[in-house]
Amino acid sequence: MEADLTPPTGERYRALSLWWDGLPGTLTVRPPLPGDIEVDVAVVGGGLTGLWTAYYLQRADPDLRIAVLERDVAGFGASGRNGGWCSALFSVSESTLDRASGPGAGTAQRLAMEETVREVGRVVEEEGIACGYHRGGTVVLARTPAQLERTHEEVAEARRRGIGEDDLSFLPADEARARVGATDVLGGTFTPHCAAVDPARLVRGLASVVEAGGVSVYERTTVRSIAPGLVTTDRGTVRAGTVVRATEGYTRTLAGHERDLVPVYSLMIATEPLPDSFWAEAGLAGRETFADHRHLVIYGQRTEDGRMAFGGRGAPYHFGSTIRPAFDRDAHVHEALRRTLVELFPALADVAVTHAWGGPLGISRDWFSSVGIDGATRMAWAGGYVGDGLSTTNLAGRTLRDLVLGTPSELTRLPWVNHRSRRWEPEPFRYIGINAGLRLAGSADRAEDRKGRTTWHAAALGKLVGG
Ligand SMILES: Cc1cc2nc3c(=O)[nH]c(=O)nc-3n(C[C@H](O)[C@H](O)[C@H](O)COP(=O)(O)OP(=O)(O)OC[C@H]3O[C@@H](n4cnc5c(N)ncnc54)[C@H](O)[C@@H]3O)c2cc1C
Repeated sequence: MEADLTPPTGERYRALSLWWDGLPGTLTVRPPLPGDIEVDVAVVGGGLTGLWTAYYLQRADPDLRIAVLERDVAGFGASGRNGGWCSALFSVSESTLDRASGPGAGTAQRLAMEETVREVGRVVEEEGIACGYHRGGTVVLARTPAQLERTHEEVAEARRRGIGEDDLSFLPADEARARVGATDVLGGTFTPHCAAVDPARLVRGLASVVEAGGVSVYERTTVRSIAPGLVTTDRGTVRAGTVVRATEGYTRTLAGHERDLVPVYSLMIATEPLPDSFWAEAGLAGRETFADHRHLVIYGQRTEDGRMAFGGRGAPYHFGSTIRPAFDRDAHVHEALRRTLVELFPALADVAVTHAWGGPLGISRDWFSSVGIDGATRMAWAGGYVGDGLSTTNLAGRTLRDLVLGTPSELTRLPWVNHRSRRWEPEPFRYIGINAGLRLAGSADRAEDRKGRTTWHAAALGKLVGG
């Protein structure tokens, strides 16, 4: 009997998100690791962190033997399911970075993030990755007096830090409403440092580019453990000069890394394509990504094909950092997202929600994202982006290139490099703590809706529920 050489179908992965559903062509799965191999760099996880790292290493030294090991398929994780904000947002504030690494550290990280938004645009253009990259900026609305107060505080703090009008401007009510035709708009801010993208087309496109460049991408290959020079999988072992951990929200699945990062779920919905008459009122003419200043994060984008894609936090943290496909779909949270979207845009009340999905993102104990390498063991890592990883993964990839190749650069001097976070508490303490934080954020928003202002300290809450 002849062997069936047809690659296994990947069509079932279309259910992962709106973005996966819209991927052009037929979806196939790449072959798994064929057995024991030896490489220069083994990258664990085929999301944007792993693939950007492979991309920049391969471009810097085409002779390097690089293997990406992915449990499902490239882009299976948060990278193929997110809100498509390619932003300059970073998980901790500039002043926190200054406190940790000295004056100027926060500014350096911000400028690197702003440059990263442009770098992603440059690469997708150069490599022909058609992911709808459009740098339309972000509008964050103030829709209650308390949110307006926070907006003014944010702009004042930006000015104190030397951030000018061109990078963050205050929008009076009429200007904010002209950009985003939502209800109850009292004002807002605008920053140009964000692009809307289709994340699945970005990550899948990048996987094809690195593969064409000579990187081996093995799918359906589960890594069980990582150790200096050795990656153990269900398909064989990989001996490697350097091992890069790029598993973000899934890091707890690796032996010995159970408490490094907690997986917290973010969930999303998308509407059917909306008519021009809706967009004439709703605005977002520049495809600005948008949010408001509530504590429990929400985020939206007008997609390239004219849908509203909208997401938010609020899903509970699951005991023991458990990750299950069933957690991607929480009817209660998805319905709350739909209600919030209709509150913002009442014209959407009778519009069909065609997609509802979600996924885990990674958070470290002190909320610091980090990238680094242990020079002695050659174990490298990046992650803990707290929901702002789409662009940060690119900065991580370029930084890991320099760290792995041992070439110090401006990037390797940034304050998040080699930052070590302490581990999360054992259960039940982290379950109690994280869910209390999520509830606190939700009730603070409800209190603001009722009273019009709040006494909660925004920064403290931000620490609990992320950006
Ligand atoms: C719903 C949602 C909305 C978001 N919105 C935004 C946004 O708008 N903007 C933004 O900046 N960020 C957003 N984020 C966060 C962003 O998507 C992530 O920070 C980023 O994609 C992380 O990329 P990564 O490659 O590090 O991790 P992932 O994309 O999660 O990749 C990790 C990969 O590792 C694989 N893996 C896991 N365990 C193993 C193992 N044992 N062996 C082998 N492989 C393994 C997984 O299958 C996965 O493919 C959002 C996240 C979610 C879930």
